[in-house]
Amino acid sequence: MNQKLLDKILNSPRLPSLPSIAIEVIELVQQRDVNIKQIAHTIQHDPALSSKILKTVNSSFYGQAHSVGTISHALVVLGLNSVKTLALGFSLVGNLAQPSDDGFDHFHFWKRSLYGAVAARSLAKQVGLVQQEESFLGGLLQDMGLLAMLETVGDEYQFILNDVGADHAMLKQREQLAFDLDHAELGGILADKWKLPPILANSIRYHDDPDSAPEDVLPAVRCVALGSIAADIFVNPDMAGEALERYYHLANDWFAMNQEQAEPLLNAIHTGTIEMKRLFDLPTGEFESSDIILSRANEALLNLSMLQQQQTAQLEAKNKELVAQAEIDPLTGVANRRKFNEYISQQFSGTQQSGEPVSILFMDVDHFKKFNDTYGHQTGDQVLSEVASLLEEHTEAPGLVCRYGGEEFAIILPDTDRYTAAKKAEEVRLAISEKTIISEEGQQLHVTASIGVAAYDGTFFTKADQLIKAADQGVYAAKNAGRNAVRVFAPRVKKPAANPSQVA
Ligand code: GH3
Ligand code: MG
Ligand code: MG
Repeated sequence: MNQKLLDKILNSPRLPSLPSIAIEVIELVQQRDVNIKQIAHTIQHDPALSSKILKTVNSSFYGQAHSVGTISHALVVLGLNSVKTLALGFSLVGNLAQPSDDGFDHFHFWKRSLYGAVAARSLAKQVGLVQQEESFLGGLLQDMGLLAMLETVGDEYQFILNDVGADHAMLKQREQLAFDLDHAELGGILADKWKLPPILANSIRYHDDPDSAPEDVLPAVRCVALGSIAADIFVNPDMAGEALERYYHLANDWFAMNQEQAEPLLNAIHTGTIEMKRLFDLPTGEFESSDIILSRANEALLNLSMLQQQQTAQLEAKNKELVAQAEIDPLTGVANRRKFNEYISQQFSGTQQSGEPVSILFMDVDHFKKFNDTYGHQTGDQVLSEVASLLEEHTEAPGLVCRYGGEEFAIILPDTDRYTAAKKAEEVRLAISEKTIISEEGQQLHVTASIGVAAYDGTFFTKADQLIKAADQGVYAAKNAGRNAVRVFAPRVKKPAANPSQVA
């Protein structure tokens, strides 16, 4: 925290002050033997304040069965705590809500605060919390730190406020970045300095981070925090959809309220706010009807969830594509070596369990270096691509064509024994040698390949690697035999070896 700035703010002559009546009430309440009569007397001394309190207590928002005529009566009916909180609220707000011509939208500020206050109290009532008045006042004063910063910090703060607009999460970040002090923190410090009840100070301090609040005040702080989100639904059309989504989510998360319970509360919040606006006489400007506001918010929420669904679908498609890309050779479009390794180990294990044979054809294009030297690397690429396509034409699922690397390809043939695989190898060899490839320059090109074949039927090999090595030895033998040939690895059954060597 920025202590220097804090001292400057706290000593600023522009800092809003606590009205003397509020100081008196706080002092009286804190005395060991609270004298109810004396408190009533003090409040009644301020007719404007008393009348506001009585109007509030008798409003339909409070829902008292009988009308309450005096502050002493209110103290009996509502209890010391409620009356004290209302007295503090009215006197404090009276001091804070004096719009100065500073370019800041005070109407919007108080509109949001009032919605937040009514929402916090409605939520507290709904969940059966005793501290309904504290929740109300916490909601009303949650952003008083903002007013204090606005008055004392000056242009830089004004600039940030304009820049972030309605986004309070962003505001806190920007405040911390610029001043190492945010409005919630300052509001809490002011509340402590003014000796407001700790539950109030904490509601202000933690209104946008309730989970950091002390355990004993957590429910009230959560009411204020959720009330503040509900307020955004009503006063910030741009973020109404997101706010509504968060409101439903947190109502469920924090208070186990489902949407059927949380939704009607919004109408009650709107009606209550309109009523309280009259009582508090706050500079809030005109209010839209709740129908318009809520249907707009619902529509925004619908758009939001449609957008989210779209994004999820796009993300899934992208992921699929990425997975596929990770298994495909970009030049030829056939499976890459990684896929080859995965598929052969899978097939090898399958054979170990079922005894169904699996075969591999391994092939290497002949004299390809020379081919590149003669026709150029690009034409070489074209040939590799066309050879791969030809291999695919000769392979049916579950067979898999792979580019093993460079000018080497492999075909994995599940459920295929050595003899069938050898026939397939011969078919492929012939097809390659007979294929005419036309280069971009119009040249007619031919290549050949040497092919090794190895099969696994559950005997002889113990690892897929040995099978691969055997097929590779077949290629080597085919090259030695003059290329454009097929050689089949035949295991010498009598003399099993870890390093198979015989090629038929
Ligand atoms: P051999 O018959 O003994 O297999 O002779 P070779 O020239 O084919 O064998 P070598 O291993 O000496 O050379 C392989 C050549 O394959 C060298 C390299 O330029 C070429 N090659 C490997 N990958 C690619 C590729 O992606 N594109 C092209 N155009 N050529 C490639
Ligand atoms: Mg090679
Ligand atoms: Mg080669």
